[in-house]
Amino acid sequence: MKVIRKHISVVSFQELALGVRFFLRLPVFLRRPVTLTESERILRQRLENREGDFLSLARSAVYQNPASPYRRLLALAGCEFGDLEKMVRQEGLEGALHKLFQSGVYLRVEEFKDRCPVVRGSAKFEISPSQHRNPLTAFHLPVRSGGSRSEGTPIPTDLISIRDRAVDLRLAFGAQGLQGSQHALWTIPGGAAITLVLRFCLIGSPPERWFTLVDPAASELHPRYLWSARAVQWGGRLAGKPLPRWEYTPRDDPLPVARWIDRRLRAGYSPHLFTFPSAAVYLCQAALDAKIDLSGARFTIGGEPVTRARLDAISRAGVVALPWYGNAESNGPIGFGCMRPQAPDDVHFPHDLNALIQVGADGKKGGLSHNALLISSLRRTAPLVLLNVSLGDEAVMAERKCGCPLERLGWTTHLHTIRSYEKLTAGGINFLDNDVIRVLDDILPARFGGGPGDYQLVEEEQETGSPRLRLLVHPDVGAVDSDAVTRTLLESIGAGSAGERVMSLLWRDTDIVQVERRVPLASPTGKILHMHLRRRKEDA
Ligand SMILES: [Zn+2]
Repeated sequence: MKVIRKHISVVSFQELALGVRFFLRLPVFLRRPVTLTESERILRQRLENREGDFLSLARSAVYQNPASPYRRLLALAGCEFGDLEKMVRQEGLEGALHKLFQSGVYLRVEEFKDRCPVVRGSAKFEISPSQHRNPLTAFHLPVRSGGSRSEGTPIPTDLISIRDRAVDLRLAFGAQGLQGSQHALWTIPGGAAITLVLRFCLIGSPPERWFTLVDPAASELHPRYLWSARAVQWGGRLAGKPLPRWEYTPRDDPLPVARWIDRRLRAGYSPHLFTFPSAAVYLCQAALDAKIDLSGARFTIGGEPVTRARLDAISRAGVVALPWYGNAESNGPIGFGCMRPQAPDDVHFPHDLNALIQVGADGKKGGLSHNALLISSLRRTAPLVLLNVSLGDEAVMAERKCGCPLERLGWTTHLHTIRSYEKLTAGGINFLDNDVIRVLDDILPARFGGGPGDYQLVEEEQETGSPRLRLLVHPDVGAVDSDAVTRTLLESIGAGSAGERVMSLLWRDTDIVQVERRVPLASPTGKILHMHLRRRKEDA
């Protein structure tokens, strides 16, 4: 993608220094895996000290940190550290977070990502991404958050925080029956993949194969993709734990992944693949076409919406897939797939490392939707300090007794129907991408053929600045009547709220939607998104 060009630059001295520090500490780090007993003990301690840990982080990384944006918000709210302590004692942690929200202590995703200034009453200020860094941690690995609409936020991550998340991963895999599996990844190169490889190593199950949807050695990518991947391999070798070399396996040629799964199944093992839902759908279809039997394999899928249509496409190949939910800002998974799900993407929220609240109807005055998730960091090892931050996601959140092994860990909060509520604004009217997903994944394939991943809506700006939407239809879908597809899209979206009906009429009048027969686009991070924003400056 042309967008990637923005990242091309020579390696800076600072990045080189970070890379060297990361590499030097890696062998020692890898020699100390986390065991199940240790993980259980650590989880118990975290849950017992949850409120104290939060207050300790708040004191050192917020109140004593002049750069912290939350220090400013708390000052505007008139909340001294003593007041916060008292509030947590009286209301509990989540109760205190609610009160803080009501006093203006929160950040919307646009504020957090510095797309707009923070305005509270008469105060107005901007936040630079570096102000979110936790001053209490050392930085070893620069990770960048994904973002189809932005370059992402730099998230310096150190090895201790990777270890923190590995504890939860060890417990989750134990509960999900994945601990004894042979793991492989099929994701995108970069910090998130590397932290995942390291977490697998830490729980005593280094991945056998490391497939990447984008070639880390591609000349369009920043050189750090290549050297950070190499550093992990060198570190593994020095620690006596050889790690797999990455294998470039594009989404349209998934058979190497299918063949690895097939070989492991035939040898009597339990292969487990970690990937994106859209990639999993491609893989399963390709395996069915090539008559490769994947029955019995396990997938963990996340990073894009996990929908019923996608799960169905995967299960047709005999694969059992569980969702995960996470984001780079929280340094890994904050949702592990429930074994007795109520929805396709039903996950357990591990509340030992973060707190989540929803503000419901109160969110309106803060510009947040009813189901917006506000996340907070709890531990001094968190790479970023988050205090009531919306990362642009919403979900249905509830306490539920599902009776699955993850519940026995004490993680009783469930999330499902997790979507980004960053909105499509073409035509000047917004709608939630939730509605687009339903139309693209279910309604259009049911009427015109194909499956999830075969239709994609691409939003772009024309030379005049006016919006245009291209509806990409995969050529494999066969002959379709463009007018009928457009009509169905607009009618289906227009069946929603009044605003959506207006939008659908507006789009029809302005011929805003154009059908194009081509393979759906991948974003710079290699994922297929339902809406792929392409701005003119990025095309230049
Ligand atoms: Zn469960």
